[in-house]
Amino acid sequence: MAYVTAVANQKGGVGKTTTAVNLAAALAGLGAGVLVVDCDAQANASSIFGAKTAPGEAPAAGLFDVLAGRAALAEVIRPSGIERVDLAPASIDLAAADLELANAPRREFLIAGALEAVRDRYDCILLDCGPSLGLLTLNALAAADGVLVPVQCEYLAMEGLGALLDTVNRVTNAFNPRLRLLGVVATMYDGRTRLSRDVAEQLRNHIPSMFATVIPRSVRLSEAPSHQRTVLQHAPDSRGSEAYQELAREFAARTGIGVAT
Ligand code: ADP
Ligand code: MG
Repeated sequence: MAYVTAVANQKGGVGKTTTAVNLAAALAGLGAGVLVVDCDAQANASSIFGAKTAPGEAPAAGLFDVLAGRAALAEVIRPSGIERVDLAPASIDLAAADLELANAPRREFLIAGALEAVRDRYDCILLDCGPSLGLLTLNALAAADGVLVPVQCEYLAMEGLGALLDTVNRVTNAFNPRLRLLGVVATMYDGRTRLSRDVAEQLRNHIPSMFATVIPRSVRLSEAPSHQRTVLQHAPDSRGSEAYQELAREFAARTGIGVAT
């Protein structure tokens, strides 16, 4: 049975998608079978894996169709272009999910229910959340075994972290007693700046579940998406690629998914 991880932080631009796709590729490199579920209407993960709809083109079936009961998850899953990594894509129609699914029966459990049928096909499922604590993120948390929180090494990094951890606690109590904070990972770390060093230290002092791996700020990481590639494909020997491979080993050890480390 797959270990399900929600990659979540209601702040945008902190590295959720970058972490989800590169961690997926790195885990696959260790031999794990991985499914990435794009839970964000911006569909950045879908775009990196080459599954974004062009303007004017009718979107292929995606997560919204699954949540609305029009398709089974297995029907929308497609290869990502990376060996052992599959993708359940999203498109902009997912932006309507909060409204359209507001009255659905068991509306917090739509993703959990959808995953049931595919859980035994993967070692790990990564849910790439959007920048909100709305219904989709609640669904991801209700479906997850653990939540992985990327935090940018910037001013006000801790801002909003309290709200997220409160939400995790609420979901644990109300919907999903299995859920735990898997860990916080510092992203966009620039060791040359005092600010980055201070923020990383502050995080380490306040958050017991910090991953030892720190993701550096790296041009290679930021340019990979424009080539529709993960950094492991785009620049395999770069520091960003190495950092995500190190994170994958730490992640595997924490989650207990069986890989060749
Ligand atoms: P989120 O999914 O949380 O909104 P993204 O992963 O999309 O954040 O990252 C936001 C932007 O920052 C993207 O343009 C991405 O390429 C870039 N980025 C993410 N992580 C890094 C990093 N470690 N170094 C440099 N750029 C990064
Ligand atoms: Mg994103």
